Amino acid sequence: MSLKIAVMPGDGIGIEIVAEAVKILHHFKSSDRLDVEMSEAPVGGAGYDAAGKPLPDETLALARSSDAILFGAIGGPQYDGLARELRPERGLLALRAELELFANLRPAILYPQLADASSLKPEVVAGLDIMIVRELTGGIYFGEPRGIETDASGERRGFNTLVYKESEIDRISRVAFDIAMKRGKRLCSVDKANVLEVSELWREVVTKNASDYPDVELSHMYVDNAAMQLVKWPKQFDVMVTKNMFGDILSDTAAMLTGSIGMLPSASLDANSKGMYEPIHGSAPDIAGQDIANPLATILSLAMMLRYSLEQTALADEIDAAVGRVLDKGLRTADIMADGCKQVGTMEMGEAVLAELK
Ligand code: NAD
Repeated sequence: MSLKIAVMPGDGIGIEIVAEAVKILHHFKSSDRLDVEMSEAPVGGAGYDAAGKPLPDETLALARSSDAILFGAIGGPQYDGLARELRPERGLLALRAELELFANLRPAILYPQLADASSLKPEVVAGLDIMIVRELTGGIYFGEPRGIETDASGERRGFNTLVYKESEIDRISRVAFDIAMKRGKRLCSVDKANVLEVSELWREVVTKNASDYPDVELSHMYVDNAAMQLVKWPKQFDVMVTKNMFGDILSDTAAMLTGSIGMLPSASLDANSKGMYEPIHGSAPDIAGQDIANPLATILSLAMMLRYSLEQTALADEIDAAVGRVLDKGLRTADIMADGCKQVGTMEMGEAVLAELK
């Protein structure tokens, strides 16, 4: 049976960069290497324009019936004045919630060819390849009660609740162990167990699960130390797993070690490894429609889809290698341009990767 992929370009540069990844899917299909069907649907601002809401019913139905979703980016200044529930971001948040995409995979990879793009010394970051697994649907961002209230003296207090159930810790840690098995077999669980009871429970559940993965070397690190270690010697890490808020902060830190937002893919998975795959950047309205956006983060997101949802590791490896060869040849979009390289546009970069695959 054909694999079903929902294609959701969204807004701004989403349209241009997703088109380049779709060309690769068509190539694998037409050369009989992947039995796949693609259907496109509007989301974000495009969803609002088409159906009056950022996640139209047909788009959600398509997402539910697909094996994986290729997502571009959403947002744009023309939607900033809309009521909160109609804003493009709501479409993305609703998709994550409706599909229970609780595991956010954020690789921070620095191709050796781009080591100069980082703010850290090249020897500290060249060849960096970390995977951060962030819990995405629980923790302090969702815990109840929450709010701002005024006490009897008239002073206001704001409060949020950090809460994790054992089952939530269990499932996110198993995703991380499984990923570590497919990579360097080292997992670092990041918590604050010296201060937070939630973290105590987190550490206990992760440690218990380690016995099911005897090949994975498990370590624990407090989040403040993890932040320091990430900028001191990031190559010590293979896979990191952590709760929602710590992951939010650490994954952006790790992303910035690479210095190139246009290069970084991501995945959000449910309990059955169905997932949504998207670049970490936004819709970049400042450069939209000019054929200058870097499509590589989206192309690498497609590689993650092939690896984590579609069980097509060989095709994923091919894409990763093709991107490496294109960089070796000195082709660069404007965001990663360096001395001695050749500057190309979105389409030319996409075509160059496709040519390597052919
Ligand atoms: P952004 O990531 O869109 O852009 C930040 C900067 O990086 C801009 O200068 C942009 O030109 C550049 N950039 C981003 N992607 C690039 C690429 N592929 N190639 C070259 N340069 C690239 O963030 P922003 O400007 O803060 O937000 C713009 C819009 O995107 C907003 O509406 C925001 O809400 C939305 N947004 C969406 C997502 C998402 O869809 N997941 C994430 C972040 C922001």
